Amino acid sequence: MSAQVHVFVDWDDTLKVTNALYTQVSRENAGLLLQKLPQIRLSVEQITTLAHDIDLSKAEARGLNPENYPSAWVDVYRQLAQEHSTDVEPRLAALLYEKAAAVPYMEQADYPGARQLLTQLRELGCEITIWTAGDAVIQTHKVERSGYRPLVDRLYVTPDKNVQTLRAALGPRRPEDCCVIGNSPRSDIAPALELGMHAVHVLQDTWAYDVVPIDGDDPRYVRVTSLLEIPDVLGRLFPALAS
Ligand SMILES: [Mg+2]
Repeated sequence: MSAQVHVFVDWDDTLKVTNALYTQVSRENAGLLLQKLPQIRLSVEQITTLAHDIDLSKAEARGLNPENYPSAWVDVYRQLAQEHSTDVEPRLAALLYEKAAAVPYMEQADYPGARQLLTQLRELGCEITIWTAGDAVIQTHKVERSGYRPLVDRLYVTPDKNVQTLRAALGPRRPEDCCVIGNSPRSDIAPALELGMHAVHVLQDTWAYDVVPIDGDDPRYVRVTSLLEIPDVLGRLFPALAS
């Protein structure tokens, strides 16, 4: 009997649209700031960039934390108010924070083929682990709410995705029988390749935190532009699946 294939599938911006929700709320928050401080000579995009840069520096400094993004918006408001010698209105600061803090609870649309992929992976006999980073309560809530929980074998939430946490998630499985499927070079692809797993890089939207150089020539690295390509890719990587 051939070895079972174990797939570790990322959630945010692999199966489910995520980054676009942050972009949408950032544009709304920037618009609120421009209404309140029309003297700011910045565009919506420039204000959004300020907030995202602060969010990124918080993630780099203290890891992924649900407070990072909402507090970045309060920081931007304070900074702009100070630059323009106006007082910070607590109500606006609270509104910016609340809107940003609500993003993880917004409905996440599927990337095309998300449900089909999970269904096909099951039919192929793969063990499916959802491998996702962030706050355990929030990430678990996202997966439960999607209705996809019954399609997966394991849900593994970690505060940060890296070589150490992927090794822990791997448990007794042999790396050569495993494949990570994800959109993040930093969180999905680099750790998988370092541990000797296969890595399917789904070229979808991502944020600056996720970008690191990866070895595109590694024979275990495959790039796809759609989830719909993945079952055929796995059939080639693991010939036993196709038989
Ligand atoms: Mg992702």
